Amino acid sequence: MADFYQILGVPKSASQDEIKKAFRKLARRYHPDKNPGDKAAEEKFKEINQAYETLSDPEKRKQYDELSRLGAFGPGAGGGFRPGQGGFQGFDPRMFQQGGATFDMGDLGDLLSGLFGGAAGARRPGARGRPAAERGADLQAEVTVSFEDSLRGATVRVPVTKADACEDCHGTGAKAGTTPKICPECQGRGVVAQNQGVFALSQPCPRCLGNGTIIEDPCPRCGGRGVRTRTRRYAVKIPAGVKDGTRIRIKGRGEAGSRGGPAGDLYVVVRVEPDHFFQRRGDDLVLEVPITISEAALGTKVRVPTPGGGSVSLKVPPGSQDGRTLRVRGKGAPKLKGGRGDLLVRLRVVVPDKLTREQKELLQKLGETLGDPRAAAFARV
Ligand SMILES: [Zn+2]
Ligand SMILES: [Zn+2]
Repeated sequence: MADFYQILGVPKSASQDEIKKAFRKLARRYHPDKNPGDKAAEEKFKEINQAYETLSDPEKRKQYDELSRLGAFGPGAGGGFRPGQGGFQGFDPRMFQQGGATFDMGDLGDLLSGLFGGAAGARRPGARGRPAAERGADLQAEVTVSFEDSLRGATVRVPVTKADACEDCHGTGAKAGTTPKICPECQGRGVVAQNQGVFALSQPCPRCLGNGTIIEDPCPRCGGRGVRTRTRRYAVKIPAGVKDGTRIRIKGRGEAGSRGGPAGDLYVVVRVEPDHFFQRRGDDLVLEVPITISEAALGTKVRVPTPGGGSVSLKVPPGSQDGRTLRVRGKGAPKLKGGRGDLLVRLRVVVPDKLTREQKELLQKLGETLGDPRAAAFARV
């Protein structure tokens, strides 16, 4: 468990594909569903996820490699990183010095927060006072609606599995009737400073693991974590005329915030099932309508379906070529700001491929009267 590569059991030179494969294999083995009640498997699963989150992102991986090279994770393989065990976790980039020169690590603070996650990384180590409140993460869910529902609007129930504040302890992690206590080791700062060779480092407090507080009597419901993973169903209003891929933001329905922070937002991505007849093009709908060669030549009236189950009668002008598009105003998709797009009727001239003898004779006779169209087409060549 010295580093993320070891956690996933891949060499430092592993390709993204190899990392993904290794992760999938391990995640299957240690998944909590497969190991109910097994705390060790659960921890392992978290570690695997954390390692993968970093190594699967080429940018994060690059920065992680760079940090390893600089010795941020301890000398050699032995000085490893152990989440939650008072290991070499809290590396404060602002205190990072080498040979007297301070490195400008820029976004590395954020990177480290991402790498270490949880309480130790998410707050600014070294900051005075109690750890700051944190906004919960945004979540994304996908719903699929029928084409009809996309046009008339609908209310759908979206299941969202997320970490929510525990209902027994209301997120404190302390057993009902008790409260978390300020950590005596770090006086609530969550970090202890330590000099280690050329590095001036700030480590998360080993007693409270960076939380600044300790829980003497953990809540039995959530095991002191303050959060529980639950599936909630939210009714989401899909507006009439919604397009495939539209994202709807629902404020405050993401992950619960911690230490009194606000909840994140939920983004619902709407997928619209394709329709047999109509194709969407912006706010217009395209409908293909077959006509015979004689209808195309002589003109006709056709009745075509409109979205929502109605129909409309349409005049096909004489001499209509294949692919001609006729516009029926106001019969397209509803626009989100009111009004409707148009229905575009595309004519498809069907050339018969099975003819009776009589039909052949009739067409032959007709053909003789039509003359040679190439003569006109290539007249100037
Ligand atoms: Zn609880
Ligand atoms: Zn402490």
